[in-house]
Order: sequence, then structure tokens, then C-alpha cells
Amino acid sequence: MRDKILELLKQGQPEYVSGEAICQRLGVSRTAVWKHIQSLRSMGYEIEAVTNAGYRLIGVPDRLYPAEIGWGLKTSFMGRHVHYCERLDSTNRLARELAARGVPEGTLVVAEEQTGGRGRLGRGWFSPYAKGIWCSLILRPSLSPLDAPPLTMLAAVAVAEALQRAAGLKPGIKWPNDLLAGGRKLCGILTELDAEVEKVNHLIVGIGVNVNIAPGEFPPDLAETATSVLAVTGRRASRVRLLQEMLAALEYWYLRWQKEGFSPVLSRWKEYSVTLGRAVLVTSHRESYEGWAEDVDESGSLILRLPGGQRQKICSGEVSLRPLHDQGLI
Ligand code: ADP
Repeated sequence: MRDKILELLKQGQPEYVSGEAICQRLGVSRTAVWKHIQSLRSMGYEIEAVTNAGYRLIGVPDRLYPAEIGWGLKTSFMGRHVHYCERLDSTNRLARELAARGVPEGTLVVAEEQTGGRGRLGRGWFSPYAKGIWCSLILRPSLSPLDAPPLTMLAAVAVAEALQRAAGLKPGIKWPNDLLAGGRKLCGILTELDAEVEKVNHLIVGIGVNVNIAPGEFPPDLAETATSVLAVTGRRASRVRLLQEMLAALEYWYLRWQKEGFSPVLSRWKEYSVTLGRAVLVTSHRESYEGWAEDVDESGSLILRLPGGQRQKICSGEVSLRPLHDQGLI
């Protein structure tokens, strides 16, 4: 009911919507409407109430409320069910639980703050309150676990496009799925699989985007390596708008990937790549390789050309880009 009242106020903007009209449309009493208005105000909505005119929405809080995400969302299933939390240990953790309970594909878990946000290999992810998009999506693709790596690259492409559309910023993608701006990390993606030998049960795509974190707000260990939309563009971006664009781009590429396979995603990925055509150091399990990042193949593996001329295929690992001046490029 509260969200329905909010919707009427949004539709009415910038005009007043009379209390009477709300009562009639929704079949509730004046007192009930007043209570819901109070509850919206306590959530941070600014609502003017004027005798004989009615209610007018004049300010929306900077929160990723499900009603905000849903307002103007252009998807059919991605982000259509939202689990919102102000504070959560980890959105991937809750998403795993929900997935095991059988929630629909495209269900989104989003938190204003993560107290135990995680990266790969159990590393931490800094997720301060209301300053980023800390979210996880539940997907149920029918594929074998071996074919899952392209999906994490697909997510990187979708977030890169969304950043371009919503914040006017073109990030680079470091293989396989880190988004960088000015050489610093803007977004991390952590994909977790629940699979049997032959078949994926579900896939959790965790995405952390640094949006409105001021440069000085990063902890000292990230000060040199992390960045945010605010730090790069000098402007605060709407997290709701950015998340809506992410969901739309994710749905677009996910459906396209199901119809046409990985190849269109890969070409788009290459347009954003800052890894290919450069000298890199790749740490993979216990081995590390230095070489030239030549290509990415149809399974998402990185093809390195080693100093001796032979090629090495790398399925997973951590890439460090060698500075351009070390490569004789500048
Ligand atoms: P992911 O695949 O999720 O990016 P990583 O292991 O690469 O996983 O990311 C975790 C690492 O990223 C941490 O060890 C830390 O150095 C760095 N990091 C943590 N929080 C942030 C953040 N908000 N922005 C940029 N880098 C971060």
C-alpha cells in the first residue's frame, strides 16, 4: 500500500495529489493514507501536505529502495524481485541462501552497506553506507560449470555500458572482469557457482561499484588502487539510475548470450579491454607468467604469448598490467 501511494505521488509530480483521490483510488481511509505518508517521510521522502490541495512529493532519498529501483526499470525479469537491506554482511551470502530456497531468476539482493563484503579468495570488499552499489543477482542458466566463466565477463560488459550511460564514464576492463578507471579499480565482480558435475544449479553474480565515495574516504590500503565515479567525474551519480542501467544491460546481454553464444559479448568485451595488446604478469594458482596478452578465446581464457614465442592459455588468474613506459610504448 505504501508503495502504491508513493507511485500515485510520483505520477502526480510536480502537482499535488488530493488525499481524497488517494483514498478513492486505493480504497483506504484518510487516516491510513496519513500513516503511510508518515512512514514514507521516515524513509527520507520529502512530502508536502497542504490543506485543500493534498500531498506533493518534493524529494526522494538517496536510497536503493525496491520502489525506486522498480520505477522506470526497463527489464522483464532482471531485478524484478528485490531483497533490500540497509546493512548486510554480504549480498552474495544472502543471495546464495535465497537461491537455495528457489527464488526466481533475476532476483536482486542489494544493501546500502556490507559489513563483510568479499572479493575473490576471501579478500575483503570495502562497501560503505549509501556510497556504492553492493548487490548480487541470482541466475539459473542451463549450462555446464565449465562454460560459466564467460558469464562473469558478460557482467563486466554490462556494468561498463551502464557506467557509460548513467555516468558518462568509459571504464576499461582488466581480464577477466575488473573495471578500471585511470588504472584504478572502480568495480569488482565475484561470481559464485552452485553446480553438480554436469549442470549449474544457480549462479550468483556479486557486483560492487564504487559510486559516490570521495577520494579521501578510501581506507589507506586502497588509497592508491581504488577509485569511484565521484573521484573520476567530479560529480555524484544517481545510484538508482546506474543500477537500473546495470540491470537493463545485464538482461540484454544475458538473453543475447543465450541466443547467440559468447561471441557478441566477447567482441563488446574487447572494446573495453585494457589487457589485450599489453605486456602483463599473470598469477594463476601457484604459477605466474609474464608475457604479451594476445587474445581471449571463445571460452573466455586469456591467451598469452610468452617471451620464447609459445602460447599459454590461462583460464583463471590475476593480471597485473605492466606500466606502459616499461613496455617501450611511451
Ligand atoms: P573481485 O573479483 O571481487 O574484484 P578481488 O579479490 O579482485 O575480487 O577484490 C578484492 C580486493 O580489492 C581486495 O583485496 C582489496 O585490495 C581491493 N578492494 C577492496 N574493496 C575495494 C573497493 N571498494 N574498491 C576497490 N578495490 C577494493
